[in-house]
Amino acid sequence: MSKIRVRFAPSPTGGLHLGGVRTVLFNYLFAKKRGGDFIVRIEDTDQTRFVPGAEQYIFDCLAWCGIEPDESPVHGGSYGPYRQSERKAIYRQYAEQLVNDGFAYYAFDTPAELEKMRDDHKTAENPSPQYDGKIRMQMKNSLTLPADEVKKLLDENTRHVVRIKMPANETISFTDMIHHEVSFDSSLVDDKVLLKADGMPTYHLAVVVDDHLMKITHAFRGEEWLSSAPVHVLLWKYLFGLDNMPQWAHLPLILGPSGKLSKRDGAKYGFRSLP
Ligand code: GLU
Repeated sequence: MSKIRVRFAPSPTGGLHLGGVRTVLFNYLFAKKRGGDFIVRIEDTDQTRFVPGAEQYIFDCLAWCGIEPDESPVHGGSYGPYRQSERKAIYRQYAEQLVNDGFAYYAFDTPAELEKMRDDHKTAENPSPQYDGKIRMQMKNSLTLPADEVKKLLDENTRHVVRIKMPANETISFTDMIHHEVSFDSSLVDDKVLLKADGMPTYHLAVVVDDHLMKITHAFRGEEWLSSAPVHVLLWKYLFGLDNMPQWAHLPLILGPSGKLSKRDGAKYGFRSLP
């Protein structure tokens, strides 16, 4: 059996809250009990939510907990770089592979066109329509435009994103270490953006590519990611085959009295705020 490798993958968008610390503990204790490696990967692909000082704060918190990563942007390792913004060039080739294999497509819709789509399709039952299998053929993308026009738009560097083409009426299932058998109806999941207009991957593409390249065997993360799991399972299937997919464990969340525990509320719950 291959060596256990787990990762804690925070986004530097604020301080580390109790839920994050709990996720670290599960990762760390699971790996250490089995002689495995604990990796810290900084998921900083959302430049609009980047908070200066947050990464240092996360490492300070880990040190305070007495947790020393085996690999990280600070500790080094043979699977780096461990900051996703420094891995930007890696992701595009996987996005293009998905397009070439028919599992994803280029979308050229402008923000105004997306807003119009939402307005046109809004109903009382569906107040926020998604870009999905029901809508994609009415939009401006490489599935609806002639091939020569798509080539021209790409050659001219027209702003575009890459979206996953969610299949219709498929049941996507996997076995979670905590929730056991979990199933999703693919028709209810939207065509999530994989590569953004700024060339950065979204979390969905980056998490799958990096878990593969960093040979992650078990992925513990908060339950808020369970609804994204069908997208990740499909990406694993399309890119790398399901046999190598890490075992997922979606941990229940720690909530504040209001039902939400925000990184920004850290001080309220006894955590020091960002420097
Ligand atoms: N960057 C994600 C977060 O901050 C990580 C989720 C994961 O571990 O896959 O929640």
